[in-house]
Amino acid sequence: MAPQKAPLAEYKKKRHFEKTPEPKPKIKKSTTKKPTFVIQKHAASHLHYDLRLEIGGVMPSWAVPKGIPTDPADRRLAMMTEDHPIDYASFEGTIPKGQYGGGTVMIWDYGTYENLRNVSMQDALNHGKIEVFFEGKKIKGAYALIHTGKGDQEKRWLILKMKHEPEGRKKQFKVNEKSAKTGRTMKQISFEEDEGDE
Ligand code: MN
Repeated sequence: MAPQKAPLAEYKKKRHFEKTPEPKPKIKKSTTKKPTFVIQKHAASHLHYDLRLEIGGVMPSWAVPKGIPTDPADRRLAMMTEDHPIDYASFEGTIPKGQYGGGTVMIWDYGTYENLRNVSMQDALNHGKIEVFFEGKKIKGAYALIHTGKGDQEKRWLILKMKHEPEGRKKQFKVNEKSAKTGRTMKQISFEEDEGDE
């Protein structure tokens, strides 16, 4: 994969920070001991979910149209998007219409993750094979992200729930469509944010 020239340059280029409430493109380490992840539900022109993993001071990101699978038989497309700042993991709100990604963003799930491979996360990312264990508020389990796309399809990855969880780590979990952070629905988030603006 072609490395990004400057971290967050693409993130910055796509946004007008005087018009969007999204976090500014700052590079920093999170304050937690374990690296963090977030899954955001995003009602942009097409509803999708965004998975972001903290790696090296930024959050490499994938748009997952159908959301995170909970069945190992269900492999889902994950399209790599631009790296996001760490601060994005706590962003829930509404991006104004007409701005990049305009629409409501919910923190669908968040937490920390553990690298299950014997290589660094940066190497796993560069080589297109990531295996992590998510300790989220909803999702608790082992997942793989596999880079499958070549040429003009190079942003294509697959996300799948791994069949074999690490020893003693198998957990049952349930998902729902409310914010893992605030308990709000998409409707409540967009309504409350609109009220705040006017
Ligand atoms: Mn998105």
